[in-house]
Amino acid sequence: MGFDKKTIEDIDVRGKRVLVRCDFNVPLKDGKITDENRLNGALKTIEYLSDHGGKVILCSHMGKPKGEYKKELSLEPVAKRLSQLLNKEVLFAADNQVVGENAKKAVENAKDGDIILLENTRFRKEETKNEENFSKELASLADVFVNDAFGTAHRAHCSTVGVTKFVPVSVCGYLIQKELKFLGNAVQHPERSFVAILGGAKVSDKINVINNLLEKVDTLIIGGGMSYTFLKAQGYSIGTSLVEEDKVEYAKEMIEKASKKGVKLLLPIDNVVADKFSANSEAVVTEDQNIKEGYMGLDIGPKTAKLYAKEVKDAKTIVWNGPMGVFEFEKFAKGTIEVARAMVDSNGTTVIGGGDSAAAVNQLGFGDKMTHISTGGGASLEFLEGKELPGIAALNDK
Ligand code: AMP
Repeated sequence: MGFDKKTIEDIDVRGKRVLVRCDFNVPLKDGKITDENRLNGALKTIEYLSDHGGKVILCSHMGKPKGEYKKELSLEPVAKRLSQLLNKEVLFAADNQVVGENAKKAVENAKDGDIILLENTRFRKEETKNEENFSKELASLADVFVNDAFGTAHRAHCSTVGVTKFVPVSVCGYLIQKELKFLGNAVQHPERSFVAILGGAKVSDKINVINNLLEKVDTLIIGGGMSYTFLKAQGYSIGTSLVEEDKVEYAKEMIEKASKKGVKLLLPIDNVVADKFSANSEAVVTEDQNIKEGYMGLDIGPKTAKLYAKEVKDAKTIVWNGPMGVFEFEKFAKGTIEVARAMVDSNGTTVIGGGDSAAAVNQLGFGDKMTHISTGGGASLEFLEGKELPGIAALNDK
């Protein structure tokens, strides 16, 4: 997939109707937005388009209304809050059909620089099936399409992919541009040495990621729950640690693949273990890889953390997805903290894949010290798998 996509700065939007796919899938409680990160993230693109004289028509999904109008999933509270954050009116086009009479009238009456928000795109059952009629309806409102919703870029829906077939120009906004610049380039054109760190609970969630990254990296570091399947594959005893018996063979293959490709594959050389999966269990450090019967590995050990940290500090590009242990329990968070700290101390480009790792890094207070934290959990994993994201592939190349 080419990552050199046209951006909003490559086109003239003055006087044009600009449909912008945003990610306003924010959590709501009693009609109030409880986390505004996604709204704040969207402001720069919206402001640019409005300041440059576009008639800005925003759209997004929220939650899973399953193709019908649901009052509690209406985007109306988003329009209100956006108006405050932008210090400019965002007209809400209340319309159960999303692109109904109300929305059409609002767009017809819009002046240059005006901002309109359409209703939740998933109120239409066609949206998630990428059906042509709804894509055409959305396109009928626009001269230009802007995708700025990375979190849904791995889904081919009407508002992410279908619509691009029926508008003359489709470009990316600042958020997707940033994902392409850091996450895309890290995997595609990394400055070397390139180190990837994978952790988290299961091997099975990351099979394609491991396989693809072994083609690209100089060093692959494995920690967290998934490392015990690898340790077992190497013949170590792993006690009652998390293990996927049906993936032991796969782990062996990956160890072989790494060796054939000359990729340094690092696995824990010691572990922090406990006799119970609990925040209050006593944390015991093992001498080496082996874990005694009755004990489970809940974090990488101090020797491992030191080894991984050294590898990270010397790297030029570091991509991380998945914690090194059960970081939610203080006693078993050290490995994850050490690796995060090593990333902060590194002079290289540091990229955090979305989901749990992003949450861990933010929770540990390292959020603003990384080069880039991806906003899309599923989408960033598919990126690391080397898959083409349909929402990005559909945009015009430079
Ligand atoms: P993932 O969603 O695959 O990134 O997994 C993240 C989850 O894996 C976190 O909730 C961690 O608590 C969990 N995890 C990490 N290491 C271990 C481990 N050694 N044993 C059990 N769970 C783990």
